[in-house]
Amino acid sequence: MIELANRLNRIVESNTLRMAKLSRELAAQGKDVINLSLGEPDFFTPQHVKEAAKKAIDDNYSFYTPVVGFLDLRQAISAKFKNDNGLDYAADQIVVSTGAKQSIINVLLSLLNTGDEVIIPTPFWVSYSEMVKLSEGIPVYVKSTVEQDYKPSAKQIEAAITSKTKAFIFSSPCNPSGSVFTKDELFAIAKVFENHPKIIIISDEIYEHINFIGKHESIGQFDFIKDRVVTINGMSKSFAMTGWRLGYIGAPREIAQACDKLQGQFTSGTNAVTQRAALAALTSDMKATRDMSLAYKRRRDLVLQLMREIPGFIINEPGGAFYVFPDISFYFGKSDGEKTIENCEDFCMYILNNAMVSLVGGDSFGAPECIRLSYATSDEKLIEAMTRIKNILLKLK
Ligand code: PMP
Ligand code: GLU
Repeated sequence: MIELANRLNRIVESNTLRMAKLSRELAAQGKDVINLSLGEPDFFTPQHVKEAAKKAIDDNYSFYTPVVGFLDLRQAISAKFKNDNGLDYAADQIVVSTGAKQSIINVLLSLLNTGDEVIIPTPFWVSYSEMVKLSEGIPVYVKSTVEQDYKPSAKQIEAAITSKTKAFIFSSPCNPSGSVFTKDELFAIAKVFENHPKIIIISDEIYEHINFIGKHESIGQFDFIKDRVVTINGMSKSFAMTGWRLGYIGAPREIAQACDKLQGQFTSGTNAVTQRAALAALTSDMKATRDMSLAYKRRRDLVLQLMREIPGFIINEPGGAFYVFPDISFYFGKSDGEKTIENCEDFCMYILNNAMVSLVGGDSFGAPECIRLSYATSDEKLIEAMTRIKNILLKLK
C-alpha cells in the first residue's frame, strides 16, 4: 500500500468537479443527464481570440515564456485594471498563471504560515477553504443569510478579526450566490480593514463582466487600503476560455515577487499560445463578452421564473455570475416512501439519480441548507431540467 502525504487528508475533493465527473460518467453510460453542476460557460471562445492563438502557433510561440507572463500581456492587464477598475498595478505587479485557481493558491502559499487565519464570508467558492487548509492556514467563516442577499455586513466581518488574521478573501460577483457588492458595501468593508494594516484583502473578480445590475466595483479602488489588495481575475468566465487556463493577479510588489518565485518552481508559467490569445481578448472591443452577459441575464430570469414555481425554494435574486443558490431545507426530512432527504447532498443525489440533473450541494460552499445550480447552458436544457426537478420533488412528502 502506498502511503500518501498527510496534507491530502487536510482537504476534500472539489465538489464542483466531483459532481461534474459523476454526470459525465452517467452520460458515458448513455443516460440523458443535464449537467448544471459545473460553473462553465457553454459558449465557444470568440473567433478573434482563436485566430490569435492560431497565429501564435504559426509564429512559433513554442518556447518558455517569462514565469510571470509576457511583458506586453502584463502591460495590457495593467491597462485593463486602470481603465476598467480604477486600479493602479504596474506591469511588475501582475502575475499571469494557469487559471485564477492557481493565482489564488499562489497568493495563499505566499502569505500564510501555519495557523494564520483567513476570513471567508459564506457562501464562498468551494476551493477557498481547501486552498487555505492546503497552505496550512485556518479558514474563519462569516455567515450570511438569504435575507442579507448572502452579503455579510462589515460589522460581522470585523467581529471575525483576531491577532492571527492574515487575509480576507471573497468574490463579487459571488460564486455561488451571484450576489454583487455595491460600492458603498465595499467601502464599509474596506473601512474595517483600514485599522488592521497587516491584513491582506484578496478580491476575486473573475465574474466581473457577468454583472446584471450596473458597473463592476473593485475594493482596491479605495486609497486607504489599495496597497494591501490583491485583485484576482482571469479569462475563463468573461471570454469563455475555461480550458485555455489563464488567470492573473494585480498585487503589492512583494506578493507578486513571491508568486513569481513559487510559480517558477511549480509550472514555469502558463502556456505561451494561451497568453497570446489572452492578449487579443483583453485588447479587443468586448462585444462577445457583452453578448454572453446578456444571454446569462436572460437565462437567469428564465431560471428564476421556473424556480419560483417549485414549492419550498427560497431564492435571492442573483445580480451577477451564472448561478442560483436556493435554500432547499424545506425538503429535509421529506421522503418518497423509500428515500428520505436528510441534507443537501441527499437532495442532489436524489435529483441526479431520479431526474438526471446534476447540481452541487451547498455544504461545500459553507451553506448546507442550499444547492447551487449553474445556468450557463441553453434555454431548452434549463426548461427541461427545471421541469424534471419540479416533477420529481412532487413525489416527496
Ligand atoms: N474564482 C471563482 C470564484 C471561480 O468560480 C472560479 C471558477 N473556476 C475560479 C476562481 C477559477 O477559475 P479558473 O481557474 O478557471 O481561472
Ligand atoms: N469555478 C467553477 C465552479 O465553481 C469551475 C469548477 C471549479 O473550478 O471548481 O463550478
